Amino acid sequence: MFRRDGSPGWDAGRQRSQTRLAAPRGGADFALGRPGGEMIREVLRMGDPRLLRVAQPVMEFGTKELAALLQDMRDTMAHLDGAGLAAPQIGIDLRVVIFGGMSNPRYPDSPAVPDTVLINPELVPLAADEEDGWEGCLSVPGLRGWVPRWKRLRYAGCDESGRRFERSVEGFHARVVQHECDHLDGILYPMRVRDMRRFGFQDVLPSDAIASIAD
Ligand SMILES: [Zn+2]
Repeated sequence: MFRRDGSPGWDAGRQRSQTRLAAPRGGADFALGRPGGEMIREVLRMGDPRLLRVAQPVMEFGTKELAALLQDMRDTMAHLDGAGLAAPQIGIDLRVVIFGGMSNPRYPDSPAVPDTVLINPELVPLAADEEDGWEGCLSVPGLRGWVPRWKRLRYAGCDESGRRFERSVEGFHARVVQHECDHLDGILYPMRVRDMRRFGFQDVLPSDAIASIAD
């Protein structure tokens, strides 16, 4: 459904590139200047208790700190070719996600998802029907699982300036939003896999299981 590429692929590539990761900033998680341009943050992996927190709402918009966080998230997502990223994945306990697939070379067949900053999101299903699909996650590297999601939903929230917006979406777009917003409630996609026979390593699973959302 999303990606058709039998190569051993991006996990190996990502491991190589991780040797270039910048060290996380000391002290405050996101605070100071940005010497040297882009800041690739370490993505936490499953097992880290910080991924299990219910994140806090953003109370102040238009701040330097929020802009710096979003820039770090964009840099990190682009560096790892992700379709999305949630702030808790880089250890930031705030209800902030970004996603977008329009220029992602790993998902050439996916319907376009606009580059989006979504803060303090609310999700409401538009119908009871679910759709199953393969997912991956940058916090669960190398693995894929078959995950049920609402097929159609409306989401609302704020952009980085605090302006509220809402969209009604379906399919891949709806799946990405649900996956990302789950991170804000401490939920990783393996917790939603119902049939554990359809959860495993990407390089071992049958070839129909190579498509993924990796974020
Ligand atoms: Zn994820």
